[in-house]
Amino acid sequence: MRRGVVTRTRLILGVFLVFMLVAPLVLPEFQITLLNYIGLYSIVALGLVLLTGIGGLTSFGQAAFVGMGAYATAYLSTVYGMSPWLTLIVGLVLTFAVSLFLGFITLRLSGHYLPLGTIAWGISLYYLFGNMEFLGGHNGISSLPAINVFGLELDTGREFNYLIWSLVLLALLSMQNLLDSRSGRAIRALKGGGLMAESFGVDTARMKIIIFVHAALLASLSGWLYAHLLRFVNPTPFSINAGIEYLFMAVVGGAASVWGAVVGAGILTVLKQWLQDLLPKLLGQSGNFEMIVFGVLLVLLLQRAREGIMPLAVRFFPAPEKLLPPLAQELTRRARPAAGEMLLELKGARKSFGGLVAVNDMSFAMSGGEILGLIGPNGAGKSTVFNLVTGVMPVTGGEVHFRGERIDTLSARAIVPRGLARTFQHVHLLPAMTVLENVAIGAHLRGSKGVISAALRLDRTEEAMLLAEAARQLARVGLSASVHEQAGSLALGQQRILEIARALCADPVLLLLDEPAAGLRLQEKRALAELLCKLKSEGMSILLVEHDMDFVMKLVDRLVVMDFGEKIAEGLPKEIQTNPAVLEAYLGGVK
Ligand code: ADP
Ligand code: MG
Repeated sequence: MRRGVVTRTRLILGVFLVFMLVAPLVLPEFQITLLNYIGLYSIVALGLVLLTGIGGLTSFGQAAFVGMGAYATAYLSTVYGMSPWLTLIVGLVLTFAVSLFLGFITLRLSGHYLPLGTIAWGISLYYLFGNMEFLGGHNGISSLPAINVFGLELDTGREFNYLIWSLVLLALLSMQNLLDSRSGRAIRALKGGGLMAESFGVDTARMKIIIFVHAALLASLSGWLYAHLLRFVNPTPFSINAGIEYLFMAVVGGAASVWGAVVGAGILTVLKQWLQDLLPKLLGQSGNFEMIVFGVLLVLLLQRAREGIMPLAVRFFPAPEKLLPPLAQELTRRARPAAGEMLLELKGARKSFGGLVAVNDMSFAMSGGEILGLIGPNGAGKSTVFNLVTGVMPVTGGEVHFRGERIDTLSARAIVPRGLARTFQHVHLLPAMTVLENVAIGAHLRGSKGVISAALRLDRTEEAMLLAEAARQLARVGLSASVHEQAGSLALGQQRILEIARALCADPVLLLLDEPAAGLRLQEKRALAELLCKLKSEGMSILLVEHDMDFVMKLVDRLVVMDFGEKIAEGLPKEIQTNPAVLEAYLGGVK
């Protein structure tokens, strides 16, 4: 790190720490209360930054989990006299179980059904709090004990402030660690739809559950704090309205940085307070007018700054120093196939979509070290063959074998670790992530550390190895200069090459490329062809799906030609060039 440059992270952290130490000593009571609330809300909003902002799963129901943490401690500490520290654990365990269950049923829902689902259980839990006799009905539970820290009773807002903000800081830092890891990359890949992540072995359903439970636990923690700060709970603060406000906070802060949660919670809390004071004076009567103003402001924000406030705010700080990943021990590599070893074999593979037979009785084989071109006019069924081989779609009939093992019965996720990696016809990148991070996703299955190790920073050795591998593959394809650029800022040709580096990170023995040359300029095509030749000379086997005949002719060892879902020819490039059926398909066909 260059001396004299204060990195963004350290600067924010430093300012934050000083403020949090000094503020409770000097601020008046009223502002301390406000600060306490901001802290409580930040913890919930942080969960939503992860779940909604980063993971793309919208939840309106977070307030119910806050209520769960609050009611668990209220009930157990007043009725059974349990220590609040113990009730915290019970509350978290309860929230864990309930959110796991709710996650299993709601995260299967797609599109807008998911937010609707969260509204449904958000409302149900709210009414449950109010209707349960033993929870005090709508009057709630009062006289909760104060939290005791090392013999000190936290019975004033001023003291409580330190506890709240210490926990905010812990939650923020562990979340930051989590996002900067193997699991973090997998989580950030969810928003793009998950196909790419699954193709590199990420269990996307599991990742969704993990972030859902994580967000619920943070909400529950906030509820526990809330209950002991007020020493009283009733159902009102856990309604769906509160759930919507939490979501506002996460959206306003934005997902660009975990600090967005604090910024969002701060802005909304202060603004709400301010509007509650101001609006009745302006309008001459009281009512919940601030909600209307909030609504308008949110719409404006979504139009002007979709990514929230944080991307605007961070511009004022120097960007963090970018370093190449340190040299690390190399990851283990799988055994290479011998030249000529049978790699991939299709036996009468068939795929129909309703009445349309996209792939009909396709059989071909390829062996180790070979570059096989699969060509044909648009709509011939090439991508469908590709999807059958990579497990994205199940076959309707026939079989696919890879290195002597039947793979057409396996999912995409189970096929990658067998040594097959792919690129996409339409690039699937995470544009806001760096080139290096994007490529490291390819190595997902070569690491094993999970979210807890990541949050506690126990994954650093493995992480260094994964990033070093990504850097190595980027060097191999000639993209070293762009390691720290945002993937979205690369030209299309480079994005395609990035995808090849990502596939190489999976340590494949067979690389499947779907129309890598489509949309490229001549020079980009040349660079790509050079790269593929280089990979071949290193012993890589490649199945190249292409539309562009000229591009493949010089590259491949053999060709399989498809038209209308069927194989119409197979042979050496020069044989194919003069094959009448092929000429007919290309010249008299779709074009
Ligand atoms: P290619 O990659 O050779 O251009 P595809 O494999 O993409 O061709 O498509 C082959 C045929 O299958 C086309 O007629 C296409 O419309 C159809 N097809 C492909 N995917 C689907 C799908 N998911 N659902 C229905 N039809 C599809
Ligand atoms: Mg295609």
